Amino acid sequence: MKFTNLTRAEEIGANCYLLEAGGVRVLLDAGMHPRAAGALASPDFSLLEGRGFAAMVLTHAHQDHVGCLPLAMREAPGAPVFMTEATAGLSDVMLHNSVNVMTRQREELAARDLPLFTHREVEKMSSDWEIIGLGERLDLGGHGVTAEFFDAGHILGSVGVLFEAEGKRVFYTGDVNFEDQTLMRGAKFPEKNIEVLIMETTRGDSPTPEGMTRRSEEDRLLTTLQAALEAGSPVLLPVFALGKTQELLALLYGAKKGGSLRGGFGLFVGGLSAKVTGVTDGLRGRAPRQHGDLKLAECLPMEVVGGRDIANLEVRPRTIYAISSGMMTENTLSNILAPRILENPRAHCMFVGYSDPRSPAGRLRAGRQGGEVLLDRREQPVRRRCKLDEFTLSAHSTREGLLAYVQRVQPKKLVLVHGDPPAVAWFAREVPKVSPQTEVVIPVPGVAVEL
Ligand SMILES: [Zn+2]
Repeated sequence: MKFTNLTRAEEIGANCYLLEAGGVRVLLDAGMHPRAAGALASPDFSLLEGRGFAAMVLTHAHQDHVGCLPLAMREAPGAPVFMTEATAGLSDVMLHNSVNVMTRQREELAARDLPLFTHREVEKMSSDWEIIGLGERLDLGGHGVTAEFFDAGHILGSVGVLFEAEGKRVFYTGDVNFEDQTLMRGAKFPEKNIEVLIMETTRGDSPTPEGMTRRSEEDRLLTTLQAALEAGSPVLLPVFALGKTQELLALLYGAKKGGSLRGGFGLFVGGLSAKVTGVTDGLRGRAPRQHGDLKLAECLPMEVVGGRDIANLEVRPRTIYAISSGMMTENTLSNILAPRILENPRAHCMFVGYSDPRSPAGRLRAGRQGGEVLLDRREQPVRRRCKLDEFTLSAHSTREGLLAYVQRVQPKKLVLVHGDPPAVAWFAREVPKVSPQTEVVIPVPGVAVEL
């Protein structure tokens, strides 16, 4: 049994792995790098050596897992792609949006290889998608290789995948959260008889402060938000369109109903976020989550702002702008609105999740009030006069939660993926203390590892 990391570097970046077991080649995820553009944003499919794969498994619909699916399918036309119903509905929206973004980038970056794929390709490909429910066992390629999905608690539809082949049980976590979020319930993963664990390590470099919990962070955010709105501040909350926006809507709704958020306020969400929220509402009762009956698109009065209107949108007091992207990537709504918020001493900027330190949001968070920050390479830096606060409402497990899972599983081999080098290094150091028999493997991109 062999495992190859098809990404281009050892970092959080994108996800794409090849599992070869029982004579069957299975591709796990096919993400697009969030910071790279053009062909270098894709996994290195040349490592497939033109031999394709028999089947593919998609763990969830975030861009860094699904973004290059159409390119992967060029390597294996007609191969089945297994995913949950929610992942299928959400991937469709995300991939079509990605074509639109890449088409715009073609002009802006003068990049002739963009878009990397077309709307037509996405439409045609979705007929190869096979919907699989949690706990259903599926056959991959007919050589006794099977797979089963387990709820990963990360975003709607997300799963970890248990493979059985050659008498071994191999579990791939995908992105996971073991704790309840506002909307998602914590992961329900298998723990018995797992020989090989392939695990994400996103938060390996982020220690959890003593006493900090999801609940305490939610309370701190709501208290800060209430004070900002009472002071009449406009509030920028950069959030991912998929996952974080819906979590935030559920949190604001609950706080309004429960009385911890008082008085009226304006609320803006982005066009893609509104679309994703609509799909989420359509899946009510069909994928595991809390607040199962709540229609998020209708739970609060909100306005939708698109790419065409954001440049001229008048910033209003007592208004929350919960717009993407979470990392304030150039050309996104949050990046375009940011100067009008940052330069306003009455405004407030609040971060609720992870930002890559090399992203505009990462640079902003590393700076100080009164200092300058470069948001867009084509523009002058912006001086930040607004207040800024950070909250940890991550959709990923804490590193302590992941380590505790390794301790319960006691795998023979642990393959560490989807983390920057310091994050991976923390697990490599800590795992032997809780699971001394486990061999820790850090797969070098492009080099096959024997499992
Ligand atoms: Zn994810």
